[in-house]
Amino acid sequence: IKYDSAEFMTSAAKYSQCPADIGSEVAFAGRSNAGKSSAMNTITRNSKLARISKTPGRTQLLNFFTLSGGEYRLVDLPGYGFAKVNKNMKADWEENIGEYMAERLSLKGVVLLMDIRHPLTEFDRMMIDWAVTAEMPLRAVLTKSDKLKKGPAKSTYLKVQAELQSKAPWLSAQMFSSLKKEGVPELNQWITEQLTD
Ligand code: GDP
Repeated sequence: IKYDSAEFMTSAAKYSQCPADIGSEVAFAGRSNAGKSSAMNTITRNSKLARISKTPGRTQLLNFFTLSGGEYRLVDLPGYGFAKVNKNMKADWEENIGEYMAERLSLKGVVLLMDIRHPLTEFDRMMIDWAVTAEMPLRAVLTKSDKLKKGPAKSTYLKVQAELQSKAPWLSAQMFSSLKKEGVPELNQWITEQLTD
């Protein structure tokens, strides 16, 4: 799969607006500021790719990107956990993402971005529990690994990895840094495995 071929396809404000549910896609989830856009830009070697997801009016949408000329897709899910997200926005988010997660047959895996300094928030645990129940492959990506020294970064990774593996064999973790370009081949390989399995 050619990751540098990624192209913006379309946005969806709700489940019914998603593109046809055919082929395979991997979705990216995480709380706002987790480093999701940076990670998507890094793995596609396109520094502007996820900018589209951040333009006003698009932050609450599901944004679809095609790979390899349309055969595969990456999906940028709306960031969760704005400090002052109001109740309606939260309900909307849960409804739309919940429906997408529950219904989408072409969804083959979820990449869950977590700042390595603040892993496993309440939202992250919700997503993980869902992946366990749905038997959905999930890759926890510990972003901004450059922000910690090697020792503390490794021990956080080992702790998260152990917790995930104790829950289900289809959950795994890795470290990642967009700044240092660390963990890029590992993440690309994991996504390829889910898309082509
Ligand atoms: P998003 O809201 O999850 O899409 O997060 P962004 O990708 O916009 O990143 C949020 C902030 O974290 C920005 O200020 C980024 O520059 C910073 N950031 C993202 N990835 C890294 C990284 O690997 N290392 C460091 N040091 N900062 C990062």
